[in-house]
Amino acid sequence: MNGRHDGRVAVVTGGANGIDQELRRRIAEQLDARFKGDLIGPDHAEYGDRSVVWNAMVERRPGLILRCTSTEDVAAAVTVARANGLSPSVRCGGHGVWGAALSDGGLTIDLSGMRTVTVDTENQLVHADGGCLLGDLDQATAPHGLIVPAGIMSETGVGGLSLGGGIGWFSRKHGLTCDQFVSLQVVLASGEVIEASATRHPELFWALRGGGGNFGVVTRFTLRAHRFGPMMRIGVALHLPEDAAQALREYAAIVPTLPRTVGWHAALKDTMPALPFVPPELVGRRVLMLVAMWLDDAEDPAGAELIERLNAVGRPATKAMTVMPFAARVQRLLDEEFADGHRYYTKEAHVSELADEAIDILVAFWKDMPMGGEVEIIGLGGAITDVDEDATAFSNRDYLLWLNFAMSWDDPANDQDYLDRTRTVVGDLRPWTGRGIYVNMLNFDEMDRVVEAFGGPEKYARLGRVKAQYDPDNFFRMNNNITPVP
Ligand SMILES: Cc1cc2nc3c(=O)[nH]c(=O)nc-3n(C[C@H](O)[C@H](O)[C@H](O)COP(=O)(O)OP(=O)(O)OC[C@H]3O[C@@H](n4cnc5c(N)ncnc54)[C@H](O)[C@@H]3O)c2cc1C
Repeated sequence: MNGRHDGRVAVVTGGANGIDQELRRRIAEQLDARFKGDLIGPDHAEYGDRSVVWNAMVERRPGLILRCTSTEDVAAAVTVARANGLSPSVRCGGHGVWGAALSDGGLTIDLSGMRTVTVDTENQLVHADGGCLLGDLDQATAPHGLIVPAGIMSETGVGGLSLGGGIGWFSRKHGLTCDQFVSLQVVLASGEVIEASATRHPELFWALRGGGGNFGVVTRFTLRAHRFGPMMRIGVALHLPEDAAQALREYAAIVPTLPRTVGWHAALKDTMPALPFVPPELVGRRVLMLVAMWLDDAEDPAGAELIERLNAVGRPATKAMTVMPFAARVQRLLDEEFADGHRYYTKEAHVSELADEAIDILVAFWKDMPMGGEVEIIGLGGAITDVDEDATAFSNRDYLLWLNFAMSWDDPANDQDYLDRTRTVVGDLRPWTGRGIYVNMLNFDEMDRVVEAFGGPEKYARLGRVKAQYDPDNFFRMNNNITPVP
């Protein structure tokens, strides 16, 4: 796997792993009746749909997609891949930023046929198949007044998000998605199916909490759920460009003082969409949006009071507070803005200090940026930091603010310019950004930061030893890779 620039276009390629007509035929024969899912080759009616992902910058065309419907299908797919010397990619929600979900010419194991969620209300446990999207989880848990802490929109895959960590609206109160793992059913590179938990394969269980798709295909997640909702109290304040820097200064000063029952986040948006609380004169405008979410009982007066106070920070052009269903509304607010099929480039950085100078750099970049998208400042900390750095593979837990540049456009002619601009501003912010990077946001041009993302050489070596035990040949290598250490 590598990233290269093809003229002006950033292309992510998968290397030589080719499947031709003859090999497709042979695989179909070998899979035989064991495999109940679909074999999707270039001639299949659904090939077009299943060979694209969220980011249109990714141009990869698998030689064969095996869309699985069960753990047995996944085991058969792994076995047939091995038999033919193919190293498969694994696809869940397709939101991986550089397109690791798709093999370029080779085999893709597609989990989109495995999206069942069952809720054990008595024990507050949720069982989710390996191909579930976050929206599947929310839809199943909401009727029971439960949530599983996950991401910020409904279409991201539970698989990729949780195995790399999983940050989102509820992280401050309950921690990462991988912190909720109780046990995981995994198809190993050998084709064997095992269950990993704190007591069964504990070192693998440690590695799966943040180590990504390196150790096998997870076909069922058992996750802890928490009482919430279904309603959420949420406050939104919009600030015009001339007021943005002052609002962010106040934001930076207040965030460290907040209780973990609130999440407070900022987005420097190129265009404000027509959301329900936005007055017509601000629709389509460049604004800073501050969003405050009360992570406890929506009717608690303490929540209303705090959200009111946060909404009033700076000189908002408009502000609103409302109570809305979390699963059906809040978790879907951003789906449209980050829809599949546009060209995207993202960069994540942990913020060690949101100093005035850093705010000025951010605001200056945002005011002039010619591309679409937003610069997000995500308020984390809280329960994420309750878990020791060594307790899971997930690393660099102790940052209160995370910065995410989520840039989008459609014309390939702009690729190089927009990539360069984003890289430059992230470079300019270096004095204020910290160690580490979120493994789930590592982009194609950041593969030299994989060790850092996994917490540094010592932790990476421990992960390498787990890899050697469960995947000694590095069969699962289309990912942010951990190489086996004997
Ligand atoms: C629009 C958007 C919003 C995002 N929001 C958030 C957010 O709120 N919080 C957050 O933490 N991250 C977020 N991310 C980052 C996200 O966590 C990663 O991109 C993640 O890899 C996406 O997972 P996926 O299953 O959708 O992607 P895919 O591209 O399908 O999978 C990515 C990789 O994960 C591995 N994988 C996936 N499923 C399995 C499985 N069942 N077993 C084994 N390996 C598997 C494979 O290695 C695969 O290549 C977001 C990304 C995007 C593009």
